[in-house]
Amino acid sequence: MRFGVHVPVGGGLARAVARAVELGCETIQIFSGNPRGWRSGPVPQPAGDQFRAALAREGIAPLVVHAIYLINPASSKDDIREKSVAALAELLGRCVALDAAYLVLHPGSHGGDGVAAGARRAGEALAEAWSRAGKPGRPTILLENVAGGGMLVGGTPGELAAIREAAGELGPRLGVCLDSCHAFAAGYDVRRTTGWERLLAEVEQAWWPGAVKVIHANDSVGGLGSHRDRHTHLGQGAIGEEGFRAMMVQPALRGLPVLLETPQDDPGHDVRNLKTLRRLWQEVTS
Ligand SMILES: [Zn+2]
Ligand SMILES: [Zn+2]
Repeated sequence: MRFGVHVPVGGGLARAVARAVELGCETIQIFSGNPRGWRSGPVPQPAGDQFRAALAREGIAPLVVHAIYLINPASSKDDIREKSVAALAELLGRCVALDAAYLVLHPGSHGGDGVAAGARRAGEALAEAWSRAGKPGRPTILLENVAGGGMLVGGTPGELAAIREAAGELGPRLGVCLDSCHAFAAGYDVRRTTGWERLLAEVEQAWWPGAVKVIHANDSVGGLGSHRDRHTHLGQGAIGEEGFRAMMVQPALRGLPVLLETPQDDPGHDVRNLKTLRRLWQEVTS
């Protein structure tokens, strides 16, 4: 497995690489652009090239870009849908400029007319955005499992697969990002091997072996099936260290990038969470 952190890019791309190097990241996730704004414009050429070169020099790979949270491809509202498609198309262009391997996306909210309708709209919106961006071969778009409940689409691998099925020729090119906190909150007991096995069996059934490309390792503030999307530091939440050991021994997850999205409440936490991941990794591999 390769371990890394979601690094803020508020101080610019160069600062983000410096931070990743300082932390000893082997892989990295970023928001490309302003996470609270719809549009960020294209990546300025020299900054993008320098970023790519710095990651290559430091051996940090893969680069994962997380889509901004405003994007809601499942929305039934025409204006939100159009803004989401436009933002996604632009984001795909930024990913190409940065040579990101993966773009991670939450499917969004169906607004009240059900998961099936939301999943269909999300799949169609994704396909449209991909077309508008010129159907790039990279990045691979990964649908992230969410905490579920309410009007969210994507709490199970089957719901994510329904999006893929509506995405036309883009469908076979999509993949899955699994978030441990979201899975636990959605009712998969990832404190134990059996919970991971159930989750991964569902992925294999609704998708295919090898569909999972990225893991988000986050402990959970909320309990099993609580549908609460609140991340906390590894070992300090309801999942606990044993759950991350159980994750690391899953054959389907072998070699994958594992990214922390734990709270940025103290800069020392990233270091501690990475240390925890590496210690657990040593425990299960020694
Ligand atoms: Zn996410
Ligand atoms: Zn996540």
